[in-house]
Amino acid sequence: MFRSIMGGKYFSSGNEPAENPVTPMLRHLMYKIKSTGPITVAEYMKEVLTNPAKGYYVYRDMLGEKGDFITSPEISQIFGELLGIWFISEWMATGKSTAFQVVELGPGRGTLVGDILRVFTQLGSVLKNCDISVHLVEVSQKLSEIQALTLTEEKVPLERNAGSPVYMKGVTKSGIPISWYRDLHDVPKGYSFYLAHEFFDVLPVHKFQKTPQGWREVFVDIDPQVSDKLRFVLAPSATPAEAFIQHDETRDHVEVCPDAGVIIEELSQRIALTGGAALVADYGHDGTKTDTFRGFCDHKLHDVLIAPGTADLTADVDFSYLRRMAQGKVASLGPIKQHTFLKNMGIDVRLKVLLDKSNEPSVRQQLLQGYDMLMNPKKMGERFNFFALLPHQRLQGGRYQRNARQSKPFASLVAGFSELAWQ
Ligand code: SAH
Repeated sequence: MFRSIMGGKYFSSGNEPAENPVTPMLRHLMYKIKSTGPITVAEYMKEVLTNPAKGYYVYRDMLGEKGDFITSPEISQIFGELLGIWFISEWMATGKSTAFQVVELGPGRGTLVGDILRVFTQLGSVLKNCDISVHLVEVSQKLSEIQALTLTEEKVPLERNAGSPVYMKGVTKSGIPISWYRDLHDVPKGYSFYLAHEFFDVLPVHKFQKTPQGWREVFVDIDPQVSDKLRFVLAPSATPAEAFIQHDETRDHVEVCPDAGVIIEELSQRIALTGGAALVADYGHDGTKTDTFRGFCDHKLHDVLIAPGTADLTADVDFSYLRRMAQGKVASLGPIKQHTFLKNMGIDVRLKVLLDKSNEPSVRQQLLQGYDMLMNPKKMGERFNFFALLPHQRLQGGRYQRNARQSKPFASLVAGFSELAWQ
């Protein structure tokens, strides 16, 4: 028998709205639960966010002031510019390969990669003769269309093939080939810089609670007391995802995200094989937090079980788990606070350059407000973290393998995690 969970500190996320509209997603989930029984929180999250017919991410643009939440690249162009510099700095530090791929997971509106590509154009003299291609991993039909509008050259028609792993192809405004995939596995393996900003936090988590009988998984069930309402229940016995909990776990409630582990393993294997780097930026913790599963609608907290499909669902990223999944294959750096990372990347200098260039008071104000939002410890400065995966050789101080023919040994410092220094 599944046991009901009454409120409690773990499940109080969100302000309960007065009404509980029966959304198409709620109808779909009730039907599913009626026919096959309660579902895990991970399955709930996956259905609500990425169900191909009704998922929250699939058919809407939820980003920005008019949407449900706003992200750093949408707040300030400086964010993407500094990340562009990070990639160039890593490219230089690892021997200036003749070609590289930029691969972004969950690119939203395409703003971030657009800002990165602008930096590549501005530093064209450094990157000349380097073959660059862009690869976007995106499940949302709506957002992939917005990305194409933001990034591609109108005059070159997009090639579309919904049935193929590469479902769209085009050329960016600066003439770089760009392709879209639903799955990282389909992106060509090759020397790549991977980027995941606010991507891991939307991957489905399983939730567990410690009970006198051992770990019990939290499921989503239909509330028998109230019509058209869902509730959390505890599984009567152990469930397979328990294998993801550490043996020496001391918390009494944990969230585990097997999908994040699969993606980190894939990234690690690729980086170990071909070189490159991955940069992950997200809100999260280092294996210390308990219940972080929550919803956002119209920039406000939203009860995760109310009106599913109308609000974003998210859980903090457990960076200690990402680190464990990378261990043995590649080196990892971080997590470090966004404030420190951006400071190390030279955000103050960049802000000053942009302020000096602009006479328009509204633009200057926007730049200063954006800076405050990204850097203020009470805003995004301390809530967001940066984490990187790099080939072991990159941190070993000596000469990097890819550049074995050059005489200069490479510094082991990685920009962002320490102060940026051009080599
Ligand atoms: N990185 C962007 C958008 C963050 S929102 C920014 O910072 O502004 C999360 C993004 O991940 C969206 O683009 C969403 O459509 C995409 N997404 C969610 N689940 C995904 C999955 N399983 N595979 C690929 N993309 C996914």
